[in-house]
Amino acid sequence: MAITIDEARAKVLAAVRPLPSEDVAVQDALGRVLAEDVVAARDVPSFANSAMDGFAVRSGPQGRALRIVGESRAGAPAGVGVNEGEAVRISTGAAVPQGADAVLQVELVTLDGDTVTVDDEVTPGRNLRPAGDDVNAGETVLTAGTRMGAAEIGIAVVAGRGTVKCARRPRVAILATGDELVAPGGPLGPGQLHNSNGVTLAALATQAGARVLRTDTVGDTEEATRAAIAAALEEADVLVLSGGVSVGPHDHVKPALQALGVDEVFWRVALRPGRPTWFGTREDALVFGLPGNPVSAMVTFMLFARPALGAMQGAPHEPERIVCHLDAAIPRHPDRDECVRVTLHDGFATPTGPQGSHQLSSMLGADGFAIVTAGEGSALPGDQVVVELV
Ligand code: AMP
Ligand code: MG
Repeated sequence: MAITIDEARAKVLAAVRPLPSEDVAVQDALGRVLAEDVVAARDVPSFANSAMDGFAVRSGPQGRALRIVGESRAGAPAGVGVNEGEAVRISTGAAVPQGADAVLQVELVTLDGDTVTVDDEVTPGRNLRPAGDDVNAGETVLTAGTRMGAAEIGIAVVAGRGTVKCARRPRVAILATGDELVAPGGPLGPGQLHNSNGVTLAALATQAGARVLRTDTVGDTEEATRAAIAAALEEADVLVLSGGVSVGPHDHVKPALQALGVDEVFWRVALRPGRPTWFGTREDALVFGLPGNPVSAMVTFMLFARPALGAMQGAPHEPERIVCHLDAAIPRHPDRDECVRVTLHDGFATPTGPQGSHQLSSMLGADGFAIVTAGEGSALPGDQVVVELV
């Protein structure tokens, strides 16, 4: 009996060993997963500053004529304070001088030589950004497990960081098996096809934060398969194979893995597409034997390998699932749950088109996999369905 999607994923996650952390320069941290909390070293902004170009003044009524005693520019605070009857010219973001408690924008003053007249009442704090207005010193701005995007990197910098501790990137080797494979762009002979799995799997691994060490192809002999796997396992934390994992006379992946001491954790999942999925371990290394059909390879990577890569980096890896209504009839497979590629709109899930495991076009634009559970008859339009977001 093949195991379920959830059982298979649980077995994969149980085999994951978290990777050690390393210091990463903030400019290199995009897509990396934090291994520490980031705490602000100081208030941000660190000094009270102006939200406007104008004049730093003491709050008070409209119509006051004030003497301009200095200027505060970005990076060059005024050397003087503001006393009663005085103003300091100020730029946006520049430090508000001692004694001033507000800024009046340049549009609301009348200038006459060294004198500025405020043409509006100035309330305390007007156009003034106090220190700590964004972040307070000592505040935790990012927590361990966060994947670093542009805003996260920016916050780390304003919090005072030049480096952040991140989990090491998982090192991934990809091995596409098959005598029929031709490199992207190459001419196709009879019966040949382009190796799309090599690039789709590498792209998915990269998006999951991995460093792809190599993407190789190997012909359908056991010796070649064994040699390629042995080489890949020398350096990879995760080996992802495509094809050759079924029971045909030219499927050499399982015996090769066995010969190399990779222990099988499971083979076959009650899943369509992706039934022949194989998973095993050798020490801390994880090995995924994914089926060769292009959709099967992508779907099984997303269901099983991607969460493992997340967990290795300490990132959240729970699948994101929502409940939608189907808006098409889908015949149920008698004993496998089917991942139907769907687009989502207004609570409805619409299949992307024909759903064959060889029809890579079905992955285009997919928002998720509607999991049509095994059984008799069909799931019908309007039926509730769980959708795993991709
Ligand atoms: P296999 O799992 O090795 O039996 O492969 C099943 C089918 O998947 C093959 O007949 C090919 O049509 C296709 N296939 C296998 N490997 C790849 C690949 N790397 N890229 C694209 N299609 C593939
Ligand atoms: Mg094959």
